[in-house]
Amino acid sequence: MSMSVVLFTADLRLHDHPPLRAALDGTDGVVPLFVRDRAVDGTGFAVPNRLAFLADCLRDLDAGLRERGGRLVVRSGDLVDEVCKVAAEADVDEVHMAADVSAHAHRREERLRHALESEGVRLHVHDTVTTAVAPGAVLPASSDHFAVFTPYFRHWSQQPLRDPLAAPRTVRVPDGIGSEPLPSRRELTGLSEGLATGGEREGRKLLTAWLRTGIADYADRHDDLAGDATSRLSPHLHFGTLSPVELVHRAARAGADAFVRQLAWRDFHRQVLAARPAAASADYRTRHDRWRTARAADEDVAAWQEGRTGYTIVDAAMRQLLYEGWMHNRGRLLTASFLTKTLYVDWRVGARHFLDLLVDGDVANNQLNWQWMAGTGTDTRPNRVLNPVTQARRYDPDGAYVRRWVPELARLKGSAVHEPWKLQGLDRAGIDYPDPIVQLPDGLARFKRARGRD
Ligand code: FAD
Repeated sequence: MSMSVVLFTADLRLHDHPPLRAALDGTDGVVPLFVRDRAVDGTGFAVPNRLAFLADCLRDLDAGLRERGGRLVVRSGDLVDEVCKVAAEADVDEVHMAADVSAHAHRREERLRHALESEGVRLHVHDTVTTAVAPGAVLPASSDHFAVFTPYFRHWSQQPLRDPLAAPRTVRVPDGIGSEPLPSRRELTGLSEGLATGGEREGRKLLTAWLRTGIADYADRHDDLAGDATSRLSPHLHFGTLSPVELVHRAARAGADAFVRQLAWRDFHRQVLAARPAAASADYRTRHDRWRTARAADEDVAAWQEGRTGYTIVDAAMRQLLYEGWMHNRGRLLTASFLTKTLYVDWRVGARHFLDLLVDGDVANNQLNWQWMAGTGTDTRPNRVLNPVTQARRYDPDGAYVRRWVPELARLKGSAVHEPWKLQGLDRAGIDYPDPIVQLPDGLARFKRARGRD
């Protein structure tokens, strides 16, 4: 009997899973394996919110496999050692896994290929599992990646998409391959109270509801902060409980061009990171910034993290992040602009805080969106600054989003909630809310000076 291992990483699903399909078609039995990689623990990536979501995903994957006659094998340790051990125990000929884009993923793949080959086992790495279009599948004439989204999107849209694969009906797993107990979110502390639930079943439920009731209005409502009218599928895309290929197909069938475009942004950042792995921590395009480092900057960062900058839309978004481990995209944009431009603090400080909390926290999307907003990334207007008051009036016109997340201001009516410092006398009485930590014109002048624009 020929056997194979399917190594699950950021693709924790059974629907539309090319490595699993290839393994099932090519061999008589498979070992579905997840390795809790010790190398990830040291990178700051293993934070409570994502570990909790991951635990949900693994339990759900195991349940899905058991319904099909199989089970999930979980091991922890050095990923390469563990895969090799399981490959030897099950006497497999092949290991199948999804391609991924970070420097860590590239190193892991190379080490694994080398170690398996020395044991006579072949490693098959599958594209279009964690992206709709593989990094490098579309390229400009004279570079190894696209640095600007619009031409990338033009090419991306013309790429043929493979058909999504059905989930397998049965999965035969050999006996005698030991597994550690599945992790549980109950073992974790420090979780955001409003954290979403993980798992493929949950993801597919959300997707069905989104296609039925949300996607049609996406183009008009995606920036409505209080309306909360985006899909919230990002953690499912991050952990791969939903397939990007399937999502693009289904969104395109629904005629949701604006939504498909966002999925292309995800692939765009992945192809940038695949070609420039250093962009996870170094400026993609340096602006020769000499970010503030003095103690005053630390105090500003603390106020930003805790949602007490005095700018109500910034504070509301930062408190949403703390409470849910997730933040609306418009909130991410304006809080990132506020930190990097108005406060002139290094984008890495903000990106780190986001990664500490975001359930969808993702090297490609987080670091490159931070760089985009800081003007060190792929934005063609690197010095744009978002004014938090203008943004608030535009994207939270009647103040409902701020009132939801900043209860100190709940009694203020309408857009008065966006400029509480203007309130006088009785209107202000009893409101315990800080004054702005910086005046916007001062922040703007500092940023322009720093970028040599005054
Ligand atoms: P929807 O609006 O419903 O979009 C659907 C999907 O498209 C998203 O789930 C996401 O996968 C993709 N998408 C949407 N916007 C973007 C974008 N700007 N860039 C890349 N992909 C996008 N997204 C993450 O998944 N992980 C992160 O760590 C992350 N960090 C960010 C940090 C900053 C500073 C900014 C400005 C954006 C960040 N984003 C990140 C992108 C975006 O904010 C989220 O993907 C989005 O808010 C998730 O909500 P949603 O699923 O409801 O999105």
